[in-house]
Amino acid sequence: MKHDAAPPPFLGSCLCGAVKYEVRSEIKAVSHCHCRMCQKTHGAAFGTYGSVPVGDFAITHGADVLRGRSSSPGVTRTFCSLCGSPVTWHSTHGDADSWISFTLGTLDTPIAPLKQRHIHLASKAPWHAADDASSRRQ
Ligand SMILES: [Zn+2]
Ligand SMILES: [Zn+2]
Repeated sequence: MKHDAAPPPFLGSCLCGAVKYEVRSEIKAVSHCHCRMCQKTHGAAFGTYGSVPVGDFAITHGADVLRGRSSSPGVTRTFCSLCGSPVTWHSTHGDADSWISFTLGTLDTPIAPLKQRHIHLASKAPWHAADDASSRRQ
């Protein structure tokens, strides 16, 4: 399947611009996560993440203002301490350890992921219409 996505590196930044990052390989596992922790972290119906091998993600500016917090055992979420933008999600459980997820909403380079999925729909916000057909109805 052909798509028009730009090649890596992909660049991203937080809301205030203090934190900037670079993604050096194709973005995998694009997922819209509806778990309660993502809802709280993002203040939204779900959080959207892409993943790459840990070594292919680099904070290029603002590492000093980036803060981390454990949201469940072995899972660390980072955010900009100046503006609050969530930036990364990392788990030390098993194979997940070698991957890092980052918030796709902070990505500045347009991408066209081939695949994406919704996960943890069991805790989906009751006020969010998940299917496109109903969300298009005004
Ligand atoms: Zn910021
Ligand atoms: Zn989640």
